[in-house]
Amino acid sequence: MKYDVVIGLEVHVQLKTKTKIFCGCDNSFGAEPNTHICPVCLGFPGTLPVLNYKVVDNAIKASLALNCEIAPVSRFHRKNYFYPDLPKAYQISQYDEPLAINGYIDLTSEKRIAITRAHLEEDAGKLIHSDAGESLVDYNRTGTPLLEIVSQPNISSPQEAYDYLTRLKAIVEYTEASDCNMEEGSLRCDVNISIKPEGTISLGTRAEIKNVNSFRAVKRALIYEIQRQTELVDRGDKVVQETRLWDEKKQITSSMRSKEEAHDYRYFPEPDLMPIRINQEWIQAIFETIPELPQAREKRFIKQYNLSEYDTQILVADKGMADFYEETVKLFPNPKMISNWLTTEIFRLLSEAKIGINQCHVTPQYLSQLLQMIENGIISGKMGKELLPEVFRTGISPELIVKEKGLVQITDKGELETVIDNVIKENPKIVEQYREGKKQSLGFFVGQVMRITNGKAKPETVNEILITKL
Ligand SMILES: [Zn+2]
Repeated sequence: MKYDVVIGLEVHVQLKTKTKIFCGCDNSFGAEPNTHICPVCLGFPGTLPVLNYKVVDNAIKASLALNCEIAPVSRFHRKNYFYPDLPKAYQISQYDEPLAINGYIDLTSEKRIAITRAHLEEDAGKLIHSDAGESLVDYNRTGTPLLEIVSQPNISSPQEAYDYLTRLKAIVEYTEASDCNMEEGSLRCDVNISIKPEGTISLGTRAEIKNVNSFRAVKRALIYEIQRQTELVDRGDKVVQETRLWDEKKQITSSMRSKEEAHDYRYFPEPDLMPIRINQEWIQAIFETIPELPQAREKRFIKQYNLSEYDTQILVADKGMADFYEETVKLFPNPKMISNWLTTEIFRLLSEAKIGINQCHVTPQYLSQLLQMIENGIISGKMGKELLPEVFRTGISPELIVKEKGLVQITDKGELETVIDNVIKENPKIVEQYREGKKQSLGFFVGQVMRITNGKAKPETVNEILITKL
């Protein structure tokens, strides 16, 4: 039987603020365990939470960028459950009165995915299970501000889920409400998936998949889960409503626990916090701080720089990359050449080093310097490509590397003619073949000249001289 796939995504983004959501503890990543803690985020009796309004600013900003309506009044609830990473035994979250509702994201395929809601909540701590069989807990993350963005289940393929996440990440990153760094856990994603016979209306039983740590993993987990559910239903078995864990090593999902229903959490209004009231002036003030968003930037890039849609998408998906691109164009006005270098050479170096454009040593100044030298014929494109990894690694300017290594391209005709004369003299047989019509032999001669000059000869000049001499 053929099935329709129904996918919904819940994305948690960690909001970028100096302090946590309900206390004054530092909200930065990477500190020694249990150093950013206080009686409030440890849930000591008698302490009271105080809402950090910077968190609300960021949440409004991200929600507006996701085309949501901001609720004039929203409320915190307690979500009760017991787990060692949750010292209060409840999480302060929002339930039936969330901060934002009714948003959407337009995919590049032009399909619109609706966003049901975006609500504020605090994060729990982190359990670390050691190989020695010990479990340790780090409460630094407890009370970290999160915005949970819930899509409607109208995503209908793993690729669409991937596109939705990529776009969502780009939008939120552009607002700077969160850095959306997946390695540091500031963007996390839970996936709901069910299947139903093609064209039918009522939804099938869904499974929730947790522990998916990259967008690629989301795609693979979904492909696996669709296959698993299809086989179950084809056999006449039933899909069980449960939470499943994605195993990145084995590339499978496995059952973790039966899925809780909302009533299992015994939600009730948080008595220690006032409702959040947001007026139009506040919304307007935040709205004015939203920068140009990815979709608008893509359109502008295509028009202003005459780039292909494909290159534009690659550049714009990462704000740092798009900023870097525009900085470089200002210094060296050859948009196409810069785009080519960024989307191939620099992308490769970044992905090998697993870092972002702002963490590497190549700057817009260095890249424009390098490309300028190529355009001026001082070095060849090939030499530029060999030189770039060194700039990337060391942070030494391309001009200095060229000077120190004496990499300057040989363009002097007299000098090249001497080399070429020798090559011709030493290879009479191949010269003969060439003259008899085997034109491919030209490549052999170019190769020889390059070998002798350590790749410094200017290829165009070599070709020119060779053709006249042969
Ligand atoms: Zn604290």
